[in-house]
Amino acid sequence: MKLEPKIEAFAGELTAIRRDIHAHPELGFEEARTSAIVATKLKEFGCEVTTGVGKTGVVGTVRVGNNPRAIGLRADMDALPMDELNTFDHRSQHGGRMHACGHDGHTTMLLGAAKYLSATRNFEGTVHFIFQPAEEGRGGAEAMIKDGLFEKFPCEQIFGMHNRPKLDVGKFAIRPGPQMAGGGLFDIHITGKGGHGARPEASIDPIIIGTQIIAALQTVVSRNVAALDSAVISITQMHAGDAYNVIPQEAVLRGTMRAFRKETMALIKERIETISAGIAKTLGGSAKADVRVAFPPLVNDRDSVKFISDVAASIVGEENMNREGPFVMASEDFSYMLEKVPGAFINIGNGGGEGGCEVHNPSYDFNDEILTLGATLWSRVVETRLSKDAR
Ligand SMILES: [Zn+2]
Ligand SMILES: [Zn+2]
Repeated sequence: MKLEPKIEAFAGELTAIRRDIHAHPELGFEEARTSAIVATKLKEFGCEVTTGVGKTGVVGTVRVGNNPRAIGLRADMDALPMDELNTFDHRSQHGGRMHACGHDGHTTMLLGAAKYLSATRNFEGTVHFIFQPAEEGRGGAEAMIKDGLFEKFPCEQIFGMHNRPKLDVGKFAIRPGPQMAGGGLFDIHITGKGGHGARPEASIDPIIIGTQIIAALQTVVSRNVAALDSAVISITQMHAGDAYNVIPQEAVLRGTMRAFRKETMALIKERIETISAGIAKTLGGSAKADVRVAFPPLVNDRDSVKFISDVAASIVGEENMNREGPFVMASEDFSYMLEKVPGAFINIGNGGGEGGCEVHNPSYDFNDEILTLGATLWSRVVETRLSKDAR
């Protein structure tokens, strides 16, 4: 592995930053302490710093020479609302908050690159270090974009990176085109006619309507989505009734849907709305589905995938660069940035290990061993794309 020696020299500092952020996790749009650390460090390194981009977002900028080309590198900063089960010294100091997705590591790897690139300046052009708040379902990427991210900090290409548990340390994975699913949430409000549990003929039972809707929604993926396309619909909540002998007036179903193409997401939305309303009407009640797209699918630009794969292979060797990595059914809001600017989202191996190392698991931890590798990749991406020789 060809790690940058100047980055290896401050590996200890990166580990300390990462563990400090891990011990003090903050939820989306509440990253006051984390973004203050980021801003302070960026200033210390000599970057231009803009805070408050999308509430708690921070952008650090380094410009070298007159070359108008600019690229963006993005990391996320937020934690998850869950309790940590780890017992090591840097475990979360706050109940109900945990860095269980490794965003502490993503932030630190990007700080490592900012430190190295600010000091060495071995490129020509502009690099924007984008520290995004609120990735975990709270809309941080959209907030930064709405706040003028790409107008204030124009980028011709943008890259993001996420750790992947079970992918070995020293390996990267990516795939061209759609890589991660888009996601949506839905509520289905069913109205019947409440009555006595012993006299169903005098009522319209919203529970029965709900069960029929659940059954019918199983046909969307199996009968409406093309066999070679992929989608998931999961009903994750059913709420109705409070008494043994009362048929309730209302019932609510909730769930999530995932797909890799915008067209498929639109199809699923239409099917959920139509099926819910149609079945409820058939059975004498009514139903209104509210389907909200939370994330578009994450689609990598093919040229950007080839570029970052070549850079990664130059560090870890071609045998450790998986250029046709797996599709991932989870969602990631970097997809909003990739809708605005071509780029790519690469996975860095967080290492094997047993059981508890999956992201969003209460025993997860980001692997400090890969901090210098991630920072080296970011640095080489900038030095290669904005190479002095490539003018
Ligand atoms: Zn996550
Ligand atoms: Zn994440």
